[in-house]
Amino acid sequence: MNTPEASTNCLKRSNEDSVDSLSGFEKKKLKDEIKARKKDMEVITKQLKDNQLQQLIENLDLYQNRKNCIDAQIKLLANKQKNRMLEKEMLQLKIQNFQSKKQQYAIDVKIVDCKGEDLRSKINKLNEKETDLKLKKKQKMRHFHNDKSLTEEHDHEYADLITEHNVDTKSVERMKKEVEAKKEAHDAYILAMAAKLNLVEAQLHGLFGKQEENDTLRGIITQKQEELKAQEGAAKKLLENLERQPDQFAAETLELKNKKGKIDEDIESTKLAIEKITSEDENDENEGLDEKDIEVKVVTQNASVPNFTNDFDDPEIPFVLSDGSEDKSDENHGQENHRNQEASFSDDLDDLEIQIVASAELINNDDEEAPNREEQEDGDVNNDDADETLADEPCCSNQSSKKAECKKKPKRKPKAKVHTKPQQIHKNSELYNAKLHIKAYFEEFGYTEASDVAKQAVDDVIESVKEKNCSVVKIDQGVSFPENNCRGLKDQLIQLIMAPKVERPKSSASSSKDSSNYVHPLTYTGDLYLDVNTVTGQDVLESAAEFMKTGNNHVFGPPEKEKIRHVLEGDSRVVEAEKTFFEQQSLHSTNGRSHPVPMISKNNEEGLKHLLANASIFMVDDVDEWNGFDVEAFDLDKISEVLKSDSTVQVIRQIPQPTTTNFNFISTEQKSNEIGVYHFTEHHKLEDFLENHKICIQVLTKDAYNEILNNPGNKDEILLTLGAELRKNQLPLGDHEKDTKDAKAMKETVPKYANLLSFGTNVDLSGHATKEQEKSCGKLPDSLAPTGRGSLLNFAFEKIPGLNEIQMYLKPPAARTTGHFESNSLGSININLGPGDCIWFSVPAEYSQSFAQMLNRQRRTKKSVFSQTWWPNEEECIKQGIVVQKFAQRPGQLVYVGIGTYHWVQSEGYTANVSWNVMQPSFHQMAVTAIMNDQYLAYKNYSIVPIEYISWNVVMSLEPVEEKEFRQLLKAILMRSLAHLQATLDFLNKKMESNNVKLLSKKKTGLNPMKFGIDKDAVARCSNCAQVLFNFVPTNKENMIICFKCIDELSIDINKIKVVQCYELDYLASVFDGFQIEQ
Ligand SMILES: [Zn+2]
Repeated sequence: MNTPEASTNCLKRSNEDSVDSLSGFEKKKLKDEIKARKKDMEVITKQLKDNQLQQLIENLDLYQNRKNCIDAQIKLLANKQKNRMLEKEMLQLKIQNFQSKKQQYAIDVKIVDCKGEDLRSKINKLNEKETDLKLKKKQKMRHFHNDKSLTEEHDHEYADLITEHNVDTKSVERMKKEVEAKKEAHDAYILAMAAKLNLVEAQLHGLFGKQEENDTLRGIITQKQEELKAQEGAAKKLLENLERQPDQFAAETLELKNKKGKIDEDIESTKLAIEKITSEDENDENEGLDEKDIEVKVVTQNASVPNFTNDFDDPEIPFVLSDGSEDKSDENHGQENHRNQEASFSDDLDDLEIQIVASAELINNDDEEAPNREEQEDGDVNNDDADETLADEPCCSNQSSKKAECKKKPKRKPKAKVHTKPQQIHKNSELYNAKLHIKAYFEEFGYTEASDVAKQAVDDVIESVKEKNCSVVKIDQGVSFPENNCRGLKDQLIQLIMAPKVERPKSSASSSKDSSNYVHPLTYTGDLYLDVNTVTGQDVLESAAEFMKTGNNHVFGPPEKEKIRHVLEGDSRVVEAEKTFFEQQSLHSTNGRSHPVPMISKNNEEGLKHLLANASIFMVDDVDEWNGFDVEAFDLDKISEVLKSDSTVQVIRQIPQPTTTNFNFISTEQKSNEIGVYHFTEHHKLEDFLENHKICIQVLTKDAYNEILNNPGNKDEILLTLGAELRKNQLPLGDHEKDTKDAKAMKETVPKYANLLSFGTNVDLSGHATKEQEKSCGKLPDSLAPTGRGSLLNFAFEKIPGLNEIQMYLKPPAARTTGHFESNSLGSININLGPGDCIWFSVPAEYSQSFAQMLNRQRRTKKSVFSQTWWPNEEECIKQGIVVQKFAQRPGQLVYVGIGTYHWVQSEGYTANVSWNVMQPSFHQMAVTAIMNDQYLAYKNYSIVPIEYISWNVVMSLEPVEEKEFRQLLKAILMRSLAHLQATLDFLNKKMESNNVKLLSKKKTGLNPMKFGIDKDAVARCSNCAQVLFNFVPTNKENMIICFKCIDELSIDINKIKVVQCYELDYLASVFDGFQIEQ
């Protein structure tokens, strides 16, 4: 044992003096002193450690920054080098260009020269011709001259002869004429000669002109040749200079890479140091929980801080990690005396232990639930109000209440910070995104002619992002899924919504005291004071009329608020039975942590019926060509053409990340149970959006993918580059008039290095242009088609966007549909059109209460889960005993989400989904929908599904309703509705007495559905709060539908209100009587 200097250890020395010889008071004093010193030391040790850790973390940051800086420099150099290469290539091209031009000019010169030659020879010929002509003319002139003189001589001779011989004057005349003619011919010939000469001269002139032009052209060409020569010379010189320059970039890059290597070493060693300290911290905490370890802990803390001197001797005592290693510490202690001393400490220091244990527990809780210091800084944007936002709006977890707690307690676990700097989050996200893109590319195109090594590299990438724990069990034809009576909740449903008649409490507290200005909306849960099986319509109306007189409802009691707070809770029996069934079906045990999801083939009609009635969620495989449903109708090119390329698409921006994490784009730390979601919605042109997705997969990913195949050794580097490229090419943050204020504010907090995917949501496929798509969906079986007769929604005779209208979702990899429950807990259909897969999570209906409670606990809020945006943690759910189903939905597979099933979805590749809601005509569906109505009202919201309209229309349409409980429920709903309508009429009559309210009767009867507002709107909703208004529809002076609650709250002049009454109450009472529970 390494004994320390005696002088540095006065306490130890006094111990050695002999503890037994001290008096009781001295002993106590000594122990107190020890206790105090121990505490001081703990604090100092802690501080030192924290400081050291802080320093190390700062160092790590610094190193990381340096590394980033060097990376940037290396990139810059690479760019410079690339630029130089480009410059060289440009010059070479230029020189080549010059040379080809030179050749061209040389040819031109030759052509010009040839032409000149030709011209010259022509000129020569003409010159000769001219000379010749001139000569001929001269000769002719001379001949003529001679002839003339001769003729004149003849004339004289003739005259002499005539006088001498007295010749006939006639022949003299003739001779004269001959001479005359000769003369004329001569003149003509001379003239012709002159003309010929003129022509030759003109030709000559022309040729001279041409010759001059040719000479000029030659001059120009020669000049150009000279210029070219000069340019070529200059380019050659530049190239020579470039080539002569040494490759300084390579040397610099090498130097930088060396530096980077050194920094990497520093980072590694710093990380190790941090890990060492934090693991010591963890061990300390473990010890804190174990009573016996306290003394040892005090001793061992010393070991991690070498410069600190321990007053308790023996720095060599090893760590005590668990009960098992305690013996080892005994061996090393060796000294009985020391051991006794420890024992006496632990006996006497009970209070201290309790204190330490308590604080350790607190600290542990903090680690789980409270944000660390850094998150508090960034978490300031988080606030309570965010919980109120709608599901698709930006939202985040509530941290404010935790902050106060954190300030009181020193933070213990800075370890988590090390890897979760915001920059690091986005870096990790980039890499994950790159891997998913490679996976997506592979799944669409496969590897062609790749080496085994290359294939392995791609497989490794895919394996690293593989979702584990997915479970689907195929159900064969003829096999029935176990029946379960509304997931084991039927009795609860009946009790809530149509329990047998009870006596009305005599002194029932009036719920109407505050309703003098409006009648409260209709509710469906709670006691019934009349027996639906026997009561007549007139009885109902009469009992309801009591309300106006007494202020008490004589037909039904107030809604159940507490029981329906988080929907319903069942037990595990249904899931246990399913488990056994799945094991029989798949022939092996379902030990996986996720509960399997049943899947049937499209031709299994019986199977479909069973699953619709009993499964919380299920799949139908390969729905293409099902009854003529055509996946091709949803081809993206077709869709963008139909929707017009300039239309806008609502885009959600999120961080790509594995399903197991839930980072915010500005958050700094991942917590195991973080559930609040921080994303935002903006709007982009559909064309830009689709083009961006195309570039990411078909250009960037394609290149990287081929690079991996060609160079599998560089896989990691290629992935990093792809991640960075995908980020650089992400859709820029938009600025659209449709963007909400919240989204705009959110955008301002986006860091510049943020990696954000773009998820196109709620693309409505409705109206004339999308007939083909609607028609295709309409071919599915009635129970699944958006407009199938099987869906109760169609008895509202209206189209509700997102409910019975088809919506399309355009997903890149890792796009998240955050956790939710369908409106009014309806069923929903979702078809994956491919090419990528989607990973689904869901919680069966009977666990929805504990699930919602867990969500609220984690977010520390009592607000409705429906008004929040969340991403649950799979692990955490399992830890809390909540059953989770996890499965992959491949292209062509249809997911049916059953009644009351919470679910959340993440895409694995680029993929498009279509979705809509259906309302099965069953007691189960109608009961839960009605309960949800009351739930919404409890949270001051309104149900979208018009329950009264649907119920009355089903009955008036004489639609066959087989299920007895459903008939009974319909009758109960009609009874509540009748009573509510009577109360409303009485209220209106009272209003009309004192105000100028007008009641207009529409007197609708029979099958004719009511129509309000624009053509298709068969359901009247308040234009202000969206409450559904049945039978009595108030409108203001602009003919806008407005409820009496809003009239009151907005202080609208009641004298300007007209109320349209659609049916006489007597008529409705007769419909009520005509609908029998027993058939
Ligand atoms: Zn309203």
